[in-house]
Amino acid sequence: MADRHDKSLGFSTRMSHHGRAGAKVHGFVNPPVHRGSTVLFPDCGSRKAAAKQRYEQVLTYGTAGGPTHHMLEDMIAEIEGGTRCAIVGTGLAAVMVPLLAYLKSGDHCLMPDSVYGPARNLADGLMTGFGIETTYYDPCVDEAGLRALMRPNTKVVYTESPGSHTFEVQDIPAIARVAHAAGAKVLMDNTWGFHNFQPFVHGVDVSIQALTKYAAGHSDVLLGSVTVNNPEDWSIVKGAVIQLGQFASADDCWLCLRGLRTLPVRLKQQAENGLVVARWLESRPEVLRLLHPALPSHPQHALFARDFSGACSLFGVVLQPRYSEADAEAVVDALALFGIGASWGGYESLALPTTPSITRTAGDPALGGPAIRLHVGLEDTQDLIADLAQALDRLPR
Ligand SMILES: *Cc1c(COP(=O)(O)O)cnc(C)c1O
Repeated sequence: MADRHDKSLGFSTRMSHHGRAGAKVHGFVNPPVHRGSTVLFPDCGSRKAAAKQRYEQVLTYGTAGGPTHHMLEDMIAEIEGGTRCAIVGTGLAAVMVPLLAYLKSGDHCLMPDSVYGPARNLADGLMTGFGIETTYYDPCVDEAGLRALMRPNTKVVYTESPGSHTFEVQDIPAIARVAHAAGAKVLMDNTWGFHNFQPFVHGVDVSIQALTKYAAGHSDVLLGSVTVNNPEDWSIVKGAVIQLGQFASADDCWLCLRGLRTLPVRLKQQAENGLVVARWLESRPEVLRLLHPALPSHPQHALFARDFSGACSLFGVVLQPRYSEADAEAVVDALALFGIGASWGGYESLALPTTPSITRTAGDPALGGPAIRLHVGLEDTQDLIADLAQALDRLPR
């Protein structure tokens, strides 16, 4: 008989059966939510013994997490192919924790120019104040180019693939070769790839997820994770989580566990819907090009096909250069089924004009026209296409 905790089971089977330790309480399928701050001990000796194990999943105090956190930690670590995972309150906190854990005053950090905006704010803000210098690099840099940017004090090469808003796919194994040869760590924001990109197989040391997106999946939870693949990195990351007082509520962890049960089918359907919509958009005369790594027209499609086992449903649309940013805004405003909002990965479709949000200091992304970011939800694609058609039809010919 199959062991339902077997790690070789298929992805959907694992999402259905794993992370249910303590389940069947009173016969129910799902485990309860364990909320708590104080943990009571039978005697002082056992309290002392527990304190020595606070890097493990031992109950010491609420901030160290309880059973609900631990079930989610184990599931995310397994999804990403790592050994240990720390759950934190937001995706941005998951970006912050390893940056502050691996960098100190006098160190140098490399960040892709396509990085998630709030990560750039952190690098340009608090990190600069702490004496950590950041250089932004072309996300499509080759090995020689990256080697030239490495300094003796470069301790972190940060990556995010595909890039926020502009969707460049990075050559993570090549970046990891250069970084590791120079003794630097590779951090990756793997939110877009989720289970479709296996970070540790490709040379990443620390993987960051905004679980807020597809994992939780219903636009009602903020959560992040930091996953590593060896004990040394775990002690650095978990040490920072403890020192920084990072925490997420058990209720949100529970909602994310619930989201994961249906993630395989949601993500699969949304990726499929996204491709249907993207291919239709690609045929429209108002559209210059799509920024979708799974389309053969994407400049780094070969890298995507080599390293990813699938896509999600977040991508960009670039309008013809004859259109203005105001035209792009008018298209977004005219949409009825696409909400105007930021946090993708829910079940509902979203649209945002992205050109004004693209900050570049290393080079022009040369998109060729004003851009709109679409997140395609679980609606019927014929309705989404009809909505997009009526919005594009309003553009001047
Ligand atoms: C949304 C997002 C984050 C931050 O997640 P929050 O939970 O909203 O803080 C980080 N990285 C990427 C790529 C994101 O899209």
